Amino acid sequence: MLSRREFLSTAAAGAAVLCSDVRLLAQTKYDLLIRGGRVIDPSLHLDGIRDVAIAAGRIVAVDANINGEAADTIDARGKLVVPGLIDIHTHAARSADGPPMMLEDGVTGWIDAGTQGADHIADPVAVAKASVQPGRVLVNIGRAGVQQDGDAMDLARADVALAKDAIAKHRDVVVGVKARLSRDVVGANDYEVLRRAQEAASAFNLPLMIHMGQTSSPLSKLFEMLKPGDIVTHMFAPPPNSIVADDGRILPEVLAARRRGVWFDVGNGQTGHMRWDTVAAIMKTGFWPDTFSTDWNTNSRRTGVVDMPNCMSKLLGYGMSVTDAVACATWRPSRVFPVFSDRGTLNVGAPADVAVLELRDGNFEFLDNYKGTIRGAQRLFPFATVFGGRRVTRAERPL
Ligand SMILES: [Zn+2]
Repeated sequence: MLSRREFLSTAAAGAAVLCSDVRLLAQTKYDLLIRGGRVIDPSLHLDGIRDVAIAAGRIVAVDANINGEAADTIDARGKLVVPGLIDIHTHAARSADGPPMMLEDGVTGWIDAGTQGADHIADPVAVAKASVQPGRVLVNIGRAGVQQDGDAMDLARADVALAKDAIAKHRDVVVGVKARLSRDVVGANDYEVLRRAQEAASAFNLPLMIHMGQTSSPLSKLFEMLKPGDIVTHMFAPPPNSIVADDGRILPEVLAARRRGVWFDVGNGQTGHMRWDTVAAIMKTGFWPDTFSTDWNTNSRRTGVVDMPNCMSKLLGYGMSVTDAVACATWRPSRVFPVFSDRGTLNVGAPADVAVLELRDGNFEFLDNYKGTIRGAQRLFPFATVFGGRRVTRAERPL
């Protein structure tokens, strides 16, 4: 134990160190300072006006009034400053111009959800490898990928050996399996396609993402095949076979799936995945999404998707807070795929991926997938993106 004198001298030495730290701080030169924004980071339970200081590609301080010089400064007063957005259901790897477009929207991490199957898996893998921000790929259990006439309408296309081969060849980029199970994609084969997709994913202990909605089989039969860590996308898909029953309750098998660790994802998309009356019925039960995702492609700015911030705005009118919406697009998706495990946060030491968003008040129209519109009083817009500590320039693009 320290004597009183030893304690005092130790405390004095501590104070001296503290003083020199403060002097050091005053001389610090940061690469980037994001000043005066409303910082919302659900991973840190933080919501307040702060500066964010960045050096060497990392967050080095989040504090009120950070002193020091910076090579670059973003004036974020009146804006939201949140961790870089993570979108776990996109088709960004369809072409090389996808990832940079998403980056402009604030998306600093993405998953391509089954654009391609085993036959052409090298194509999305190449796009993912060339992407500035981390991007990973799910292999479609249908060997030919997304097909107009149905990925596995012909059951022979759901080839487990080929899918496993594709995973084995690209372990660094292929991080799961995708199975689209709607009747117009697999006919009456949903159960068998799901079984095969799970066989391929489980062999590598990887997650399976299923695309639900308008399946032939009831969800009670399909969901029992989902393991912890799997993802259900298009959770707001209207009947037949939505997650909510006619009596307004969530199906017991759906509740059981969430309890054992299955994630529920929005997957906004364009056709068949989201209808406002179903959204309202599900939101009313309190069964809210774990993650937002867009089902994005390079045409999305011309559709009801627009961008990730727009999709994040759609549930604000159903009682979701802005903080919850940010959680669904940052910290929660960072938990779903290990590639993002050090992201989705502004914690000191984390990679400096930041989305600066504008939360505008007004009278905004939001589209579902059935030409249905709702109006909302607030909408998020992308303002600036920082990736790896550097500001991303936003190209002027015609809508
Ligand atoms: Zn999709």
